[in-house]
Amino acid sequence: MFRKTRLYTPGPTPLLPAAQFAMAAADMHHRTPEFRALYSKVLAQLKVFVGTQNDVLLFSSSGTGAMEASVSNLTSPGDKVLVLTAGKFGERWVALAKAFGCEVDVVTAPYGETFDLAQVRAALKPEHKALFVQATETSTTVRHDIKAIAELIYEVSPKTLLVVDGITGLGTTHFDVDAWGIDILIGGSQKAVMIPPGLAYLSVSDKAWAAMETSKNPRYYFDLRKERKNAVKGESAYTPAVALVAGLGAALDYIAGQAGGDLEKGRIALIDNAQLNAAATRAGLTTLGFKLFAPTAPGAAATAVAVPEGMDSGTVVKTLKSKFALVTANGQGEMQGKIFRVAHLGFFDYLDTVALLGAMEHIAKDTLGLPVVFGSAVAAAQKVYAEAAVK
Ligand SMILES: *Cc1c(COP(=O)(O)O)cnc(C)c1O
Repeated sequence: MFRKTRLYTPGPTPLLPAAQFAMAAADMHHRTPEFRALYSKVLAQLKVFVGTQNDVLLFSSSGTGAMEASVSNLTSPGDKVLVLTAGKFGERWVALAKAFGCEVDVVTAPYGETFDLAQVRAALKPEHKALFVQATETSTTVRHDIKAIAELIYEVSPKTLLVVDGITGLGTTHFDVDAWGIDILIGGSQKAVMIPPGLAYLSVSDKAWAAMETSKNPRYYFDLRKERKNAVKGESAYTPAVALVAGLGAALDYIAGQAGGDLEKGRIALIDNAQLNAAATRAGLTTLGFKLFAPTAPGAAATAVAVPEGMDSGTVVKTLKSKFALVTANGQGEMQGKIFRVAHLGFFDYLDTVALLGAMEHIAKDTLGLPVVFGSAVAAAQKVYAEAAVK
């Protein structure tokens, strides 16, 4: 049998061909009018994609670089901060804030769940310089309620900065960045924007810029104020990942093109697309008897699925790869062996979901020995699609 490799991992995600062509053709120097025009265009598009009037900046780094930039630029050693953590990426906030000498208070939720807002309210204090959280916790596939958390900050501690890792939240979740008061919102290139790893982007509010006037933690490469000065001129402080910037521009053009050239509408369509595919995947896999790992607050970036007791999720991941060249992700850390994760963010469509569910019917029957009626998972997804009345 021929097998086509298909990525269903929540980063890196499948590449957009138009972006690949743009990257291959990006043979230019970064201190030229051509690149300045490209860079300015992409930064302006990113503001629309993020959905904000705030500045949006780009770094040549993986997403964690922008997470580090948020901590190092906003805080001083000894600052109290609050981290909300419910998985591996929340734990990264804790480690980062500690690495920069912050005193870290933590609200946790068990893996697979989101936060108890009453607990967040009780923990949040006016002395917290910043609150760090994920929009979607990719390790468990939970979505956190950023709007509710923003409202809590507004009520309880309006000076606290709200820093959101939206690395898989962007393109899968609707945010109103400026109305809610998200001070920093972070994205990464290998997630919803359909290009390879290597770029991080983030929006920065006036409140965050003001905090940088007095924050004392060391920073050099990830200096937001230096980057902003250069961005105004259409440049980055250091050599940018030129090809990735060209690819990002092509990808944002494509997203706009899905909605008649309107990037804001394209962003909404991209989010709705991920949400539909997530809902169809949940319907299909639960029909086969799998349990969702995050049933109460499922995100649309990816779906984490628990395998039946006594089975190893690695077997599903390995067999999907060997039989169908279909690449999924195992659980991270303590969740390894217990769950597998399939992505919906970026360059996926409904038919990709049908393909995945078709493959899962074979795996569930032949590899896991579950009682499977062929077509049942696909039919459940088709029902979701039909009921969504997709035009
Ligand atoms: C992918 C991801 C990151 C970034 O990881 P990098 O490997 O640094 O790009 C951070 N947070 C979340 C929620 C993610 O999904």
